[in-house]
Amino acid sequence: MQPTIGLEIHVQLKTKTKMFCRCTLAPDGATPNAYTCPICWGYPGTLPFPNCEAIKMTVMLGTYLQGTIASHTKFDRKHYFYPDLPKGYQISQYNQPLVEGGSVPVLIEGHVRSFELERIHLEEDAGKLVHSQGGTIVDLNRAGIPLVEIVTKPVFHSPLEARAFLQGLRLIVRRLGISDADMEKGHLRCDANISVSGSDEHGVPVEIKNINSFAFVESALSYEIERQSKLVQAGKAIVKETRGFDEHKNITVSQRTKESAPDYRYFSEPDIPPFDAREFIEEKVKIALPTDEFTALKKDFPQCSSEELELLVNRSSSSKNDWVAVFRAASKRARAEGVLAWMLHRGIGVSLESATLAAFVEGVERLGISTREAQEIIAKIHSGEKVETLLGKHASELVSEDDLERGVRSVIQKNPQAWADLKAGKVRAQGYLIGQLSRTQKGKIDPRRVSEIIGILLKEE
Ligand SMILES: [Zn+2]
Repeated sequence: MQPTIGLEIHVQLKTKTKMFCRCTLAPDGATPNAYTCPICWGYPGTLPFPNCEAIKMTVMLGTYLQGTIASHTKFDRKHYFYPDLPKGYQISQYNQPLVEGGSVPVLIEGHVRSFELERIHLEEDAGKLVHSQGGTIVDLNRAGIPLVEIVTKPVFHSPLEARAFLQGLRLIVRRLGISDADMEKGHLRCDANISVSGSDEHGVPVEIKNINSFAFVESALSYEIERQSKLVQAGKAIVKETRGFDEHKNITVSQRTKESAPDYRYFSEPDIPPFDAREFIEEKVKIALPTDEFTALKKDFPQCSSEELELLVNRSSSSKNDWVAVFRAASKRARAEGVLAWMLHRGIGVSLESATLAAFVEGVERLGISTREAQEIIAKIHSGEKVETLLGKHASELVSEDDLERGVRSVIQKNPQAWADLKAGKVRAQGYLIGQLSRTQKGKIDPRRVSEIIGILLKEE
């Protein structure tokens, strides 16, 4: 049974001011209604004034994703009643969005996949209701915040694809610097349309509203696919409806059916004239698509695993946090796999400059420094000591080559059983011998060098 999924994603733009007035965007935890004005309150006689920055950001996203920027676009009123919407309508875009078409290339388990878009448009957010013991208040700080809505074609066939798409899209809007896209703070919200069909016919679409985490997207869709599949298999009809996701019970629940769906009575916003969005196209964005960056990395570093390179790209969310750039620069002077391992799995990340990182990885590998000791060196680098000094100190404390060989011979003599085991092919005995050796030596030993000496001695026997 084939599920078909389309997504509608709302992304809060990081503009200085709101969509149709000059109020600044409220910081987290702001006093309710401290960032509002008569336009936010929806007073009669006020006039909305579109925010050029928000239009430019939307057009930039559209251009970046290779959509068509509209030569004739307009805003529309979408009518509904709710206490957090004092105007009685939301200013949105109905039939002439800023951007049509386009696609989002994303990484899924080491492969590049592209998903087509229907449209991208701009609208304003509503306020919110805050319930407390004393009653409910309306907070309009959020009212009028610019939201870009990205609507995909019904192109996903599994919850995994939908999730990967969302993550890929988040990375792109972060890199473009147009949103923080923090799902926990509601900067990125998702609705999903999903249908399941047993035959070639299209199924009946069911909408799931307001999914607010990547994990929930996957579990809500999985639940819904199973629920609809069971109905189809039992020969029952699927009702066209809107459902919500109950994150505590991990199920979707019916919110309203088609009969109770609102008619928004869209009409053109009379206070904002239509315009040519192409006038807002700025210079070509020079930021690489994450997927292109991944493809280039795979070509340049075939020795590294796709999964790790994907992880690297996914962490590069801005120019200040450019994991790929640090990795590329450091890999010119140190082994790429080593750099990658230290960045991704041993907590260095982008905390060191590429030159320091390269010197560190190169030194750790050349001197055979153990992970534990290397971690101590990192802590010292973080507290301001120079990597060269630290590595030099380590090298000077290394046991000399002659002493090392003498030490190995003596340990073998004192542990004949372990030596016999090793000769019989029990590799574990080697670790035991090295352990014994490090106990008898005053300085630091290079375990790789010890292994080499043991190897030579084994051949001699
Ligand atoms: Zn305002």
